[in-house]
Amino acid sequence: MFNPGTIVKVLIPNAVNNGYDYRLTAPASIGTFVRVTVMNRPYIGVIWGCGDSGLPESKIKDIVHIYDTSVPITTLQWIKRMSDWTLMPLGAVLRLIVNVPDAFMPPRTEQLYTYNPDSTMRMTDNRLAVSDAFASNDNDAMSVSDIQNISHVSAAVVRTMIKNGTLTPCSMRPIQNDLYTYEYCDVGNIKLNTEQQSAADKIGTSIASGGFSVHLLDGITGSGKTQVYFDSAWRAYSRGGQVLLMMPEIALTAQFMARFASRFGAPPVVWHSNLTAARRREIWRGVLSGKIRMVIGTRSALFLPWQDLSLIVIDEEHDTSYKQEDMGNYHARDMAILRANISGIPVVLASATPAAETLENVNLGKYTHLRLTSRFGGAQLPEIKTIDLRQNRPCPYIVGETENNGFLSAPLCDAIGETLSNGHQAMLFINRRGFAPIVQCQKCGWTATCPDCSVGMTYHKRLGKLLCHMCGRTTPLMKECPSCGTGVSMRGAGLEKIQEEVSVRFPNARTALVSSDTISSRQSLERLVAKMESGEIDIVIGTQILAKGHHFPNLTLVGVIDSDMGLFGTDFRASEHTFQQLFQVAGRAGRGSHPGTVLLQTYQPDHPVLLAICDGDRDSFMNSDMAGRKLAQMPPYGQLIAVIIEGQRESVLSQFCNDLSNAAPILNGGKIMGPIAAQIYQVRSWYRMRFLVSGGRNANLQPVVSKWLSSVRVPANIRIKIDVNPVNFM
Ligand code: ADP
Ligand code: ZN
Repeated sequence: MFNPGTIVKVLIPNAVNNGYDYRLTAPASIGTFVRVTVMNRPYIGVIWGCGDSGLPESKIKDIVHIYDTSVPITTLQWIKRMSDWTLMPLGAVLRLIVNVPDAFMPPRTEQLYTYNPDSTMRMTDNRLAVSDAFASNDNDAMSVSDIQNISHVSAAVVRTMIKNGTLTPCSMRPIQNDLYTYEYCDVGNIKLNTEQQSAADKIGTSIASGGFSVHLLDGITGSGKTQVYFDSAWRAYSRGGQVLLMMPEIALTAQFMARFASRFGAPPVVWHSNLTAARRREIWRGVLSGKIRMVIGTRSALFLPWQDLSLIVIDEEHDTSYKQEDMGNYHARDMAILRANISGIPVVLASATPAAETLENVNLGKYTHLRLTSRFGGAQLPEIKTIDLRQNRPCPYIVGETENNGFLSAPLCDAIGETLSNGHQAMLFINRRGFAPIVQCQKCGWTATCPDCSVGMTYHKRLGKLLCHMCGRTTPLMKECPSCGTGVSMRGAGLEKIQEEVSVRFPNARTALVSSDTISSRQSLERLVAKMESGEIDIVIGTQILAKGHHFPNLTLVGVIDSDMGLFGTDFRASEHTFQQLFQVAGRAGRGSHPGTVLLQTYQPDHPVLLAICDGDRDSFMNSDMAGRKLAQMPPYGQLIAVIIEGQRESVLSQFCNDLSNAAPILNGGKIMGPIAAQIYQVRSWYRMRFLVSGGRNANLQPVVSKWLSSVRVPANIRIKIDVNPVNFM
């Protein structure tokens, strides 16, 4: 506890600071939230420690207000360690936590609106988006800014909906839902099987004894991992602690919420990026006060102001969505484990295809390994086979007068036909949005590329335009080649193209497309899931959005159009990621009482990834993949830090990279490679260069990188991004 008059350091949630000194006007302790001003602007910060600026007393301002809430000291230790690891400034890490601007103010009194589902307004994409925004907030009343932020519609759209009565003003404050009052109980409707029980008991022992531990809950899809970690959540919750369940956004489905509610007797408190300001405020404050003790959320839920976190569960721990790449670079799984380590609590990692990093920690004996080896209730694993495209070249198909290159081989078509005649459903997987990824002149070779990014433009039939997948720019489809005047043609296939082929070959089948272009919200994904369940869809064609979590009892065939797509990626995780993705997709088939089949179209049926998928032999595949990485000293056996330098002028960029190169230190047991042009050299008209720093497993690279980068003056219009253990090498 610091006495009044003490000079303390206050950390401010912004990207550039490591804390400023202020004078206390009343007693307060480390971790207490305070209000201060910086350049006359008010900020909420936390007391970080003793002041150390050495400024004369007269230059030091008073703290404006001391709140009666604080975060535990372990949170401050975690912020420090996270900053040391990711090289994000302390203030940037704090900003991840203090990111609810009005958390310390009285609730706002803006005009709110409710959504009137009976309005006779025509259903448009915009109206659907607005209705989805309300649905993702349990139909709470919303302000105009909430509606716009969440549904991404224009102010004009909202005004029209208000005018025609689809949105009705309500005079009250937000209809406060009952988030604070959820009391969970053990409904007792689940009896774990022997394997599940044994895993649950091991985790339970750690929860009871307290202390840091990590458990890998490694179970094939459908083995009941969820029920096991629900059991863990219950044990921690019923001991009075706070529980965090993290999952990828896409897995936060109504199906999942319903399972939670039936297990715990009340709906979950859900934290994600589409909440109203009022709801964010309410959950943030509820977690801070300890009234909310269980939250399901995406990676950002890790940064809620937890008071007494006693268990963290990370579902689909291998999922790349845990890696944050825009506002600072961090891996939420790793930061969760760091947090647990500091707080002395258990972590459960659940996956059917754990990351190599995680498996290595199991091998080292740092994590316990709990395996679930059979599908619950005896559902069979699907049969997985390759189709060799060299021997089964897809035949062309005709649209109107034109002959088109086909992408569905005869064996796959036969299997689809048989599935449909049995009254079952099929899923076709292709991880490429749009109609054609390459728009090219056959005569002179001209290819449509984005003027701002060094990538090709993809033709999207639904849009009727070319779209850049990096920056979202659209351009009309040209009729003739701008370079030589002859016709342009489309090459390759995206999912819209597959849908066209399917509708020619199976004219009576009802199809649906699933990609980020058609699925803009969780609700739209749920509409699709409902249609699958009610049998309104025969063939669903989708990207990786489809690969996760869903349980379609009548789905018996999964066809992967291009299994080779990810195999020749340039980074060392390409095989691992392809394996994980194909394994997840395959896991969708045959989850009900009918056995499933998975067919993988490939030109490389002997590729180790595909052989391993067919044999269901994850362990030997991962062992050999990891042996290769060990030889190459790649993670998890070595460490990498990517330093990405971006500039709008090539001359300034290359000069700065030169300066950095000249200042590069000699590393003990490591090296600095680069600069090289990034694989995607230009994004949104910024040019990009990369350095890659590598070192052995125990190399302490961060301090070296930090010192190196701060030794060179950064010119205006240059951005530096530091990515520790990068996943993306583009
Ligand atoms: P996973 O997460 O490992 O893919 P799930 O937890 O989704 O598996 O379980 C698959 C299916 O089996 C679900 O429908 C789930 O409700 C059911 N299930 C799993 N374990 C049990 C259990 N002990 N009692 C009842 N149903 C279970
Ligand atoms: Zn672009």
